[in-house]
Amino acid sequence: MEHSEAVERLRAAYRALPAGAPVRLAKRTSNLFRFGDDRSSGLDVSAFGRVLSVDPDARTADVQGMTTYEDLVAATLPHGLMPMVVPQLKTITLGGAVTGLGIESSSFRHGLPHESVLEMDILTGDGRVVTATPDNEHAALFDAFPNSYGTLGYSLRLRIELQPVKPYVRLRHVRFTDADACFEAVAKECASGEHDFVDGVVFRRDELYLTLASFTDQAPHTSDYTGLDVYYKSLRGKETDYLTVHDYLWRWDTDWFWCSRALGVQNPVVRALWPKRYRRSDVYRNIVAWDRRHRFSDRLNKIRGRLPEEPVVQDVEVPVARSAAFLDFFHRDVGISPVWLCPLRLRGNKTWPLYPLEPDTLYVNFGFWSSVALQPGMAEGHHNRLIEERVNALGGHKSLYSTVHYGREEFWRLYHGEAYAPVKSAYDPAGRLPDLYDKCTR
Ligand SMILES: Cc1cc2nc3c(=O)[nH]c(=O)nc-3n(C[C@H](O)[C@H](O)[C@H](O)COP(=O)(O)OP(=O)(O)OC[C@H]3O[C@@H](n4cnc5c(N)ncnc54)[C@H](O)[C@@H]3O)c2cc1C
Repeated sequence: MEHSEAVERLRAAYRALPAGAPVRLAKRTSNLFRFGDDRSSGLDVSAFGRVLSVDPDARTADVQGMTTYEDLVAATLPHGLMPMVVPQLKTITLGGAVTGLGIESSSFRHGLPHESVLEMDILTGDGRVVTATPDNEHAALFDAFPNSYGTLGYSLRLRIELQPVKPYVRLRHVRFTDADACFEAVAKECASGEHDFVDGVVFRRDELYLTLASFTDQAPHTSDYTGLDVYYKSLRGKETDYLTVHDYLWRWDTDWFWCSRALGVQNPVVRALWPKRYRRSDVYRNIVAWDRRHRFSDRLNKIRGRLPEEPVVQDVEVPVARSAAFLDFFHRDVGISPVWLCPLRLRGNKTWPLYPLEPDTLYVNFGFWSSVALQPGMAEGHHNRLIEERVNALGGHKSLYSTVHYGREEFWRLYHGEAYAPVKSAYDPAGRLPDLYDKCTR
C-alpha cells in the first residue's frame, strides 16, 4: 500500500474509534516494561513498518514510524550508511525510540535518536496529520515529542540523518578496578575524539570495563556472538576484538544484554538446543511478558517460601562527575549486576523540554534489568523509589519505559509539565490520548 493511502486509512480508522475510548497502538512488538491490563482500543499501524527511501547523497532516509531498527539498518547498510544512533534491541522502532528515547554507544557523539530527526509527520490526538520540523509552525510539537510516549500523537513518517560506516568495528575492552578511575576515563575518552563508540559494563565494585570502539576498513578476524559464545562474557576475556558493523550493532540483542541468562539460554546445553533464530530480545521479552501477566514466577516464589521479588528494570542518566557516587549507592542499596554504562551528551545546544538534559554536560546512562528481593517491612517499589530519589539528588533523569513511582507534582516538575500542557491542549484538546503521567504510572 502507498504511504499516503495508509495515512488516509489510519486517519479514518482513528476517527471511527468510539469517542471517549482510550487509544493505543496495536503493534506486533514492544519494548515497554509495563505490563498493565490494557483495555484501550488498538489502532492497527501494521502499514507503517517500512523504509520509504534512502538518499545516499544527502545521507538521509524517509522512514515510516513503526519501522524496526532491524529493518532500518538492513535498508541503510547496503548504502554504507547507518542511523546516527541505533538502539541495541532489534525490534525497537524509530518512532518508539524518538518518542520514548533510545540510546547507544554512539550517543556521546550524536546524542539521542530524536536529535537526528529532520522532520516528522504526526497523527495528532485531534486526528490531524501535521509535518513538524524544528522551525515551522509545529516546532513546539517537534520539541515536545521526545519523551511524550505517544501521548501527543503518533509519528507516521520521519526524515532522519544517516552517517557513513566502514565494514568492521575494532573493539578494545579496558578494565578498571574502581569507579572513580573508570568515570575519569569515560570523560577523557569521550573528549578525545578518537572513538566512534563508547560503552561499558560493571560486573562488580572492582571490575568495570569500558569498550572503546571505532570503525575500520579491515579486520584480521571477526567474532560471532550469535552462536555459542556470549558477547558480554567476552569483555572479561579479550582485550581486543573485531566485529562486522552489522554484528557490532546487534551485539547486545542476541542475549538481551545478559538477561537471557535468567531464561537458561546461556547454559551451553540449553543454548545449543535453543534455535538460533529465537536467540533474540523480542523472544525473551515475550516470555517475560507472559510471566508477568500470569504472575508465574511470583507464585513459584511463594510456593518455595522465598521472599517476593521487586522488578527493577530501569535506565537512568547521571552527570559523569557524579556517576561514581551513583554507582556506590547502587552497589550498596540495590545490588544488581551487571550494569550497562553508556555515555551521552546532547548533540548541540538545543534542549528538549520533556527530557531536560543540560548542553555541554556528559552524562552516563546506567541500565539495570533484574529484580531484587523485598526484605520483610520493605514497601512495594522500595528499590525503585530509592533509585528515583538518588537520581534526582544527583541531578540526573530516568527514562519512562518502565515503572514510574513519582507523585504527579514531582513528575511534572522533573519532566516540565509547563511545557507539555500547552502542546497537549493544542494537539489533543479532547484528551483522546492519555496524559503522560497517567500513562507512565497506571
Ligand atoms: C530491558 C530493556 C532495555 C532497554 N534498553 C535500551 C537500550 O539500551 N537502548 C535504548 O535505546 N532503549 C532501550 N530500552 C527502551 C526502549 O528504547 C523504549 O522502551 C522504546 O520506547 C521502545 O520502543 P518500541 O519501538 O519498542 O515502542 P513500544 O514499546 O511499542 O512503545 C513505546 C511507547 O512509545 C509509543 N510509540 C511507539 N511508537 C510510536 C510512534 N511511532 N509515535 C509515537 N509514539 C509511539 C507507544 O505508544 C508507547 O507508549 C530498553 C527497554 C527495556 C525493556
